[in-house]
Amino acid sequence: MAKTKKKIKVAFPHMGTISIAWASALRKIGVEPLVPPYTSKRTLSLGTKHSPEAICLPYKLILGNFIEAIENGADYVAMITSPGICRLGEYGNNIKETLKDLGYKANYIELSLYDGFKGLYKFLVELTGRNNPIQIIRTLNICIRKIFVIDEFDTELSYYRAREIKQDEAEKNYKKALNLVKSAERTSDLKKAYKKGLEIIRSTKIDPDREVLNVDITGEIFLVNDEFSNQYLERELGRMGVQTRRSLTVSSFLKDAIIPKAFRKGETHLERANRLAKPYLMRDIGGDALECISDVAYADERKIDGIIHISPFTCMPEIMSQNIFPAMREDCDIPILALIMDEQTGRAGYITRLEAFVDLMRRKKRRGKLGGKLGGKFEGKSGDKSSAKQETMEENSEKV
Ligand code: SF4
Repeated sequence: MAKTKKKIKVAFPHMGTISIAWASALRKIGVEPLVPPYTSKRTLSLGTKHSPEAICLPYKLILGNFIEAIENGADYVAMITSPGICRLGEYGNNIKETLKDLGYKANYIELSLYDGFKGLYKFLVELTGRNNPIQIIRTLNICIRKIFVIDEFDTELSYYRAREIKQDEAEKNYKKALNLVKSAERTSDLKKAYKKGLEIIRSTKIDPDREVLNVDITGEIFLVNDEFSNQYLERELGRMGVQTRRSLTVSSFLKDAIIPKAFRKGETHLERANRLAKPYLMRDIGGDALECISDVAYADERKIDGIIHISPFTCMPEIMSQNIFPAMREDCDIPILALIMDEQTGRAGYITRLEAFVDLMRRKKRRGKLGGKLGGKFEGKSGDKSSAKQETMEENSEKV
């Protein structure tokens, strides 16, 4: 494939802001990235139209992204896959066959998650037809660094969005910061972009005295990180004065799957998952179930205000984790909201559920403070585990 003089155009599907990293990696190795239009209702309806009805939402969105990429001239569509227990292992073959049936000529290429750094290296050699270790290592280096920088910007955005005085100012600043990362070609440029980007986001005017709630977001990794598929969950919560923290990020995934142990600091997400999920789930059952179970325990350990679990309709591993949450209530006194998404999820009902959950957390927090002030006299009500559990049960496991 690299024998041809014309630069080949390669597209990956969207998942949040990941296109910034893969587009820059492809450019660096001399391949033209074709970034499909950001996922929209059209993407979703294209994907849904050509997908098996009961397949999970990420599949439909990825297929829609590929169709739009090919319509825009992609020669290759590239897909991250794994031979795991869940349907991700089936995505590749199904997508390949569907594109063929639809008469598209673009080639389909796969990157297996389970092959770690070696797999990434092999994938880039296959794509370019050149085995240039220095160039490939440099490419991977900048790509991975960009992912880490963007995840840090996301954390920063969440802090400022929950406290901003003028609605959406933090997000506007965040987008400016992302543009700096996009245009950084070398590590030295990226360092400057990181510093400048943080300054820009931090220039957002905030109300430091606002009563802000802290919520962790866990669930299926695609939905946690892709704002279209989670219906702009973090933006909506930010507007309600909630600071969010994603438990599953691309950088946390990379630490476990790609980055060698010698280069990692501290406990990784998967290591923590194995430690904290053990009492409730003994082994990996596919998808992100193990991580989600441990994320609830971790959120409870840090005494934050609540946790939201988001998953696609029919996602088997996340159905399992939602069924384990009730058993965790014996040990974890934290409100959990379970959201299940598909192409039918309506916005109005979704926002109402978020508002109700925020209201519940706020009341719980105020009762807790009041209980503290009354020197424990109120403890029976404010710290009442059974009433908190009841609230959790009411919020839990209902399809939006
Ligand atoms: S984790 Fe769930 S949503 Fe993701 S591919 Fe597997 S079954 Fe589908």
